[in-house]
Amino acid sequence: MLVARDTVVTIHYTLTNDAGEVLDSSADGEPLAYIHGGGNIIVGLEEALEGKTSGDHVVVAIPAEKAYGEHDDALVQQVPRRAFQSGDDVKAGMRFTAQTEHGPRQVVVTRIAGDMVTVDGNHPLAGQALNFDVQIAEVRAASAEELAHGHVHGAGGHDHG
Ligand SMILES: [Zn+2]
Repeated sequence: MLVARDTVVTIHYTLTNDAGEVLDSSADGEPLAYIHGGGNIIVGLEEALEGKTSGDHVVVAIPAEKAYGEHDDALVQQVPRRAFQSGDDVKAGMRFTAQTEHGPRQVVVTRIAGDMVTVDGNHPLAGQALNFDVQIAEVRAASAEELAHGHVHGAGGHDHG
């Protein structure tokens, strides 16, 4: 079966940046299983895997705009320290879920100067080109239940217990 919309694709992968650093890998754990065509993985990787099949080895360089997007300066904001529940304990590197006009968003504290805290709502990999080395382990049709839930059940996927 070929990788196409509404197939469940199981992959082993290694993700590196342009400096050659390994950012993520399935080598030490379970392979990743996802439903193809639903935006569950970055668009550049979906495009690269489209039409491939089990056993295929895919190496692809993905520009930032087809990965986690360009870095958006509008997502970097200054917030008064008193806005944080943890107040005086706020430290650089802390992650919060902030309510924004675009809904809840993960932000990270990047800088603290006096009473002002700088938070960045960009994805940690925004602005980076990403290199994927992928081995396709399995391609199968998604079940009706998986399509209804929007995620994979069983090996490498969701376990409802
Ligand atoms: Zn489910």
